[in-house]
This record gives sequence, structure tokens and C-alpha cells, in this order.
Amino acid sequence: MTRASVSPLIRELRAALGAAQVLSAPADLVAYECDGFTIEKHPPDAVVFPRSTDEVARIVKICNRLGVPVVPRGAGTSLAGGCLPIGGGVVVMLTRMKQVIEVNLRDRLAVVEAGATNVALGRALSGTGYHFAPDPSSQKASTIGGNVATNAGGPHTLKYGVTVNHVLGIEAVLGDGSVLRVGPIDNPAGLDLIGVLVGNEGTLAVVTKVWVRLTPNPADYRTMQVIFETVDDATNAISDIIAQGIVPAAMELMDRGIVAAVEEAFAMGFPLDAGATVVIEIDGPSAGLDEQQQRIVKLCEKWNAREVLYAADAKEREKLWQCRKMAVGAVGRLSPSYIIQDGVVPRTQLPRVLRRIGEIAVKYGLRIVNVAHAGDGNVHPILLFDERDPEQVERTLAASGELLQECINCGGSVTAEHGVGVEKIRFMDKLFAPADLEAMRRVRQSFDPSGCLNPGKLIPSAS
Ligand SMILES: Cc1cc2nc3c(=O)[nH]c(=O)nc-3n(C[C@H](O)[C@H](O)[C@H](O)COP(=O)(O)OP(=O)(O)OC[C@H]3O[C@@H](n4cnc5c(N)ncnc54)[C@H](O)[C@@H]3O)c2cc1C
Repeated sequence: MTRASVSPLIRELRAALGAAQVLSAPADLVAYECDGFTIEKHPPDAVVFPRSTDEVARIVKICNRLGVPVVPRGAGTSLAGGCLPIGGGVVVMLTRMKQVIEVNLRDRLAVVEAGATNVALGRALSGTGYHFAPDPSSQKASTIGGNVATNAGGPHTLKYGVTVNHVLGIEAVLGDGSVLRVGPIDNPAGLDLIGVLVGNEGTLAVVTKVWVRLTPNPADYRTMQVIFETVDDATNAISDIIAQGIVPAAMELMDRGIVAAVEEAFAMGFPLDAGATVVIEIDGPSAGLDEQQQRIVKLCEKWNAREVLYAADAKEREKLWQCRKMAVGAVGRLSPSYIIQDGVVPRTQLPRVLRRIGEIAVKYGLRIVNVAHAGDGNVHPILLFDERDPEQVERTLAASGELLQECINCGGSVTAEHGVGVEKIRFMDKLFAPADLEAMRRVRQSFDPSGCLNPGKLIPSAS
């Protein structure tokens, strides 16, 4: 870029951060045009790499003054277009702020910069006897800031809760560039600002530091893989297990389509002709686990379970989980492009919604495979298509919309954990009354008066 073409925005960002922390050449911006939702793409005006909360504050102040949108970004694994720089703007990459600053076992908390990956925090806690409970399948890449901004869940959400249940404090830069710090403390007095900030999808603040709760590692586990003839049987067994008052740590369903991809990738020996495979894990003190496991197996047998395979040791357990968490990646073997949808329904509605997903696949002539955090009623239909064919893209989007509508019809919602982003914003007025949305807009305005933080995401603007 010649000196004459450097815009005031880029000049100010370089002056504030140093040129090495600012990207603005078109070729450098391509990687930031989209996130895990690849259907829509917009190049940003610049990408910046702050190293401290103070630098983030300086960036936000500059953007505010120049009327430029600010798009916070961690690893960019959002599946809802949360990092899409609609109409340009400055993408703020948090990935250089990646220190696990402190592990404090006496207070059972860790202090982490927003750009640290979930797995890096796990590594820092290894050997302490504690862990950070939210375990999204993207945890090798996704950041703690991203997990906080999307209120991420994961397979073990069923027993341990989602990210908001594990955040004790947050430091964040608000829309005017001021720095807010809430916590770290359990049940603080005053308004629950942590509850407001977790899940804000970058629309209220740029999270720079998080105090996370540490959870003691379970003393023991029982992990099994139950093979069912049909998806209906599997989902009915899952509802029965919960109805019996058993709360497993995880119940993860994979249908025949995804098992085929997983088998090709990992050769685990899963049967290719079964309707569904469910990974069930229980954990806690050793006493009583065997009895609980027997009760679960009995309930699965009532629903015609063909076979139950038990993880014999920690190595086998780890392999099973690795395989489940890499299942989505394995889909790359089936299709050049895919959309991973995220809907949630009451558990008892799982048979209905999964059947309907099958019908929608037939209606639109598409292949759809399913993974589900089934214990939570959280379905992840994966729609396979070829992004290079506009007609296929159109069909895929129509099918996506129809299956999300079905989740609403079943008394559920269009997202359990991936967020609203740009992808689902059109559903917000189906989920919320005008007065609810107006209240959300007012909250947003008080955190970000000029509206520069991640515009066009999460909360629709007033019509
Ligand atoms: C293969 C795969 C599996 C997945 N599995 C799961 C799963 O099991 N559970 C689950 O919940 N999600 C899952 N996801 C979705 C995604 O990984 C999560 O939403 C994750 O929390 C996003 O983290 P990230 O660092 O990639 O955030 P990004 O994608 O970079 O950002 C996500 C959103 O948060 C905002 N944001 C990011 N960082 C900050 C910050 N520091 N301050 C303010 N706003 C910020 C962004 O603006 C954007 O709106 C999966 C994604 C993939 C690709």
C-alpha cells in the first residue's frame, strides 16, 4: 500500500498499536472474511492484534470516533457468522492475549486472557485435580473469550452446565472504550452483569480477561457406547434415563450417517447398519457407579439396544471421546461444504424433530447427518452440500430455515450453544415479543451507546 492510500483509520490504528499489529492489505484480510459459517463473506477494513486490555480500549475509542464497526474475534469457529464483518469494520483478534495468568486452587479459580484456547486452560490445569467444565467439541481451537461470548456448551453440559455457570469474573472493554470489571466473586450483590455479558456475542463488550470457576475432577467414570436399531429407540431411551432421575455426565447421539464418516476417519469398529450410537458417560465417586450403569443399560435394553460396549480403561474412554469430538471434522470426507445447525427442543420431542429432519432432507433432496447433545435436547443436523453450486446453497438454506422452524414448533429454540450471529437473527422476532427485544436493545445501548460493537448480530435493530 502506498502512503497516500493509507486511510485515517489505518493510520490511527498503526500509531496506537504499531504497524506490525495491524493488517490492511486485501490479501491479508481474506482469512477474516468469514468464520465457521462460510456462506456469507465480507472483508473487514483492517484486522488488529492487541496484546492488552489497554490496547483493546484504544482500538475501540478510535473506531468509535471514526464511526467504524468493531468485530471481536477469537478462533473464528463460530458457526453462526458471529465474526462476520458486515459492511467492513475492524476485526479485533484476541489471540495474542492468550496467557493463563493464574491458577488459584485455594479459591478454585483461574485467571485467563480471552484469547487462550479452552484446551490451553485444560493443559494448565493438568495434574491439579481440577478442570474447566465447559468442553465444546471445538475446544482445541476455540478461545475462552469466544466460549464466554457465546455461552458455549459441550457434551458434559448435561451435568455440569454451560459457560455462564463457570464464570466468576470478567474484564471487558465497553462500546465507548471504558473498561468494566465485574467479580471475581460468587453470588455478588447488585445486578448480574456476568449473566448479561456471557452470551453477548461481542455486541456489548470486548471481553479481555476471565476469572473461571474450577471444578474438581470426578473420582471415577463409566463410559459406554450403546448401539440402537433406530434413532427413535435411542431418543426414547435417553428420555427414560432422565425421567428415572439419573443425570449422566453426557449422552451424545450419532446417527447412521455421521457414524459412516467417523468410521472412515477413525475405524473404531462402529456398526454401519445401526440407526444410532449413543455415548453415555456417568461419573462421580466409584461407589454406586456400577449400579447406576446397570440401571441405564436396562433402560436401553427396554428400547431394543442391540449392543452395549464399555470403555475398559482411560485410554479407551479418551479414544471414544476423541472420536465423538472429531465427528464433525470427519464430515469433510462426505461433502465439500456443510452447515452445522444448532437447535434445541424438549428432550421428549427428540424423536419428532429427528424424524422431521429426515423428511426435510428428502423434501429438499439433501443429505443431512446428525449428532446431538441428546441429553440436553440439543440437535446438530449437518447439512451436506456444495458451496460452488448456488442452487444447492439456496436449497440448503431453505432446509436449514425449515428445520429451525420445526424446533420452534416443538417448543424449543433455534440455538442452544452456537449463538445467533447473523445467521439466526431473522428468527429473533419469532422467539421474543417486541417488548422483550426492545428491552434487549436498551441493554445493548447502555453498554455500547454508539452501536459500534458487532452490529447486525444477535439483536435485530428496531424496524
Ligand atoms: C467443529 C466445531 C465444533 C463445535 N462444537 C461446539 C460445542 O460442542 N459447543 C459449543 O458451544 N460450540 C461449539 N462450536 C461453536 C464454536 O466453537 C463456539 O461458539 C466457540 O465458543 C467459539 O469460540 P471462538 O474463540 O472460535 O469464537 P469466535 O468464533 O471467534 O467468536 C464467536 C462470537 O463471539 C464473539 N467473541 C469472540 N471473542 C470475543 C471476546 N473476547 N469478547 C467479545 N466477543 C467475542 C465474536 O464476535 C462472535 O460473535 C463448534 C464449532 C465447530 C467449528
